[in-house]
Amino acid sequence: MSEDRRGRPSTGRPNGSRARTERRPQDRAKTADPARRASYDTLRIVEDSDAYANLTLPPMLRERHITGRDAGFATELTYGTLRYRGRYDAIIDTVVDRPLDRLDPPVLDVLRLGAHQLLAMRVPDHAAVSATVGLARATVGAGSAQFVNAILRRIAERPLAQWLDIIAAEQPDETARLALTTSHPAWIVRSLRQSLSATPDGATDLPALLEADNTAPAVTLVLRPGLATDADAPETRPTRWAPTARSLEHGDPGALTAVRESRIGVQDEGSQLVTLVAAAAPVEGEDSRWLDLCAGPGGKAALLGALLAERAPDGELLANEISAHRARLVEQSMTAVRRVLPGLSVRTGDGRELGEEHPGGFDRVLVDAPCTGLGALRRRPESRWRRSLSDLATLGPLQRELLTSALAATRPGGVVAYVTCSPHLAETQTVVTDVLKRAEHAEVLDAVAITEQLVGAPVPGQQGHYLQLWPHRHGTDAMFLALIRR
Ligand code: SAM
Repeated sequence: MSEDRRGRPSTGRPNGSRARTERRPQDRAKTADPARRASYDTLRIVEDSDAYANLTLPPMLRERHITGRDAGFATELTYGTLRYRGRYDAIIDTVVDRPLDRLDPPVLDVLRLGAHQLLAMRVPDHAAVSATVGLARATVGAGSAQFVNAILRRIAERPLAQWLDIIAAEQPDETARLALTTSHPAWIVRSLRQSLSATPDGATDLPALLEADNTAPAVTLVLRPGLATDADAPETRPTRWAPTARSLEHGDPGALTAVRESRIGVQDEGSQLVTLVAAAAPVEGEDSRWLDLCAGPGGKAALLGALLAERAPDGELLANEISAHRARLVEQSMTAVRRVLPGLSVRTGDGRELGEEHPGGFDRVLVDAPCTGLGALRRRPESRWRRSLSDLATLGPLQRELLTSALAATRPGGVVAYVTCSPHLAETQTVVTDVLKRAEHAEVLDAVAITEQLVGAPVPGQQGHYLQLWPHRHGTDAMFLALIRR
C-alpha cells in the first residue's frame, strides 16, 4: 500500500471516492469508444516510441475507419491533451495522493485525456467521466478505472479558470506560473522571454506568444510558382506576407489534385517567406547554381526549385539531406519541380562535407538548420515535452559547422541564407555571430529590408538586419533568417 504526500496510507483513491463510485453503477461503461481509444493509443505510441502524433493519428483513423465528427473529436482530444499535458499534470497532481511519477504511465494518459474533455472540450461532464472510465476499463483494468473515476470527478468539480488559479498560486515566480498555466516547460518560457526581449516591445508579449503556441494554425498552402495558379486552389484566400501562400479555409488539402501532384504543397507562411527572401537576396553575377544544405522533407527545396526554374530553366539545384528517409521525402515533394528543372538532384549525405567537396561551387545556398523547433510548437503538440536545454549543446556545434560549410560552398559574391524554425538566441544570432568571427569576406545583408521590399509593406517587430517572425505577431512559425554575402 502506498502513502500519500502527508504520509497517510493510501488506497490510490481520494477520500470518499469509493462510496461515490459504488453508488454510480451507471458510470461503469466497459468499453472504449473508437475515437477515445484512438486518442489513447496515439498517446501511448507517442510516449513509448517517440513518434509524432501528427504522423501517428491520421493513418490510425483511416485504418480504423474513424471518419467525420469522430475523427475530428479524436484529433482535438489527442493534440489538445498532448499540448496541455503540463497544465493537466499540475491539476491532476493537486488531486492525486501520490507523486505523478508513481502512477502507471497509461493511467496518467487516461487521466490527461479525461481532464482535457472536462476542461477544454464541449463534452458534458457526465459523458466525459463515464466514457473515460470506460476507456480505462478497456485499457488499464477495472481497479485503475475506479481510481480514474474518482480523480475525474474531483477535476469536474471546478471550471478551468479556478484550476488555473489554484495551480498558479502554488508557484514561486512568474516563469513557473506561466509555465504551468500555459503548459510549457519552464526552460522554454525563459528562452522565449529572452528571445522576445531582443525585439522591440518584446518583453510584454510573452503571454500572447505562449497562448499562440497553444493554438493550432490554419492550413497554409504554397502555390509553387510556375506550377500552380489560384484556379488549382479553390476556397483559399491570400495571406499577409508571402505572395505564394494561400490559407485553406476548410477541407482536406490532400483532396486537391495540385497537392497530390506536388504543384501545391502544405507549408507554413513564414517558411515560404524566408525561402522567397533567400531567393530574392541580391547576388553579384551568375545566379543559377543553388544548394539546399538541409533539405528534408523538402518544403523549401520545392519552392526554391520552382523559383530557379522560372529564373534559370537550365539552372542546377542540389538538395542535400543527411537522412535517407527524409531525402526520399524531398524526392516526393519535388516530383512536379523536376519536370521544369532538369538540373535538380537530391543527395543523401552530411552537409558539413559539401563546403570541402564543392568549394565556391554555388551562387546561392540555403541552410535550414536542424534546431530545437521552439518556433513551431503550435504545429507539433508533443514537441515541447521532448526537447530539453541540453539539446542546445548538441545542436549548437552542428549549426555552426553547417553554416561554415555553406559559406565555404558559396562563391565570392554569392549569398548564404541561414534559417531556423527556432527563435532561441543561441540558435540564431549567436550562431551567425560566432561563425562570422572566423569567416573571411562575409557581409551581413539587411534581411529585413529585403523582406519588406518583397512583401511591399513594413514587417513589424524587427531590430537589426536579421528577420525574426513570430506566431503571435505575424501568424507564422517563429522563423529566423540571416542573409550573408560572400
Ligand atoms: N528545409 C526543410 C524543409 O523546408 O522541408 C526542413 C529542414 S529541417 C529544419 C533540418 C533538416 O536537416 C532535417 O531534415 C535533418 O535531418 C537535416 N540534417 C541534420 N543534420 C544534417 C547534416 N549534418 N547535414 C545535412 N542535413 C542534416
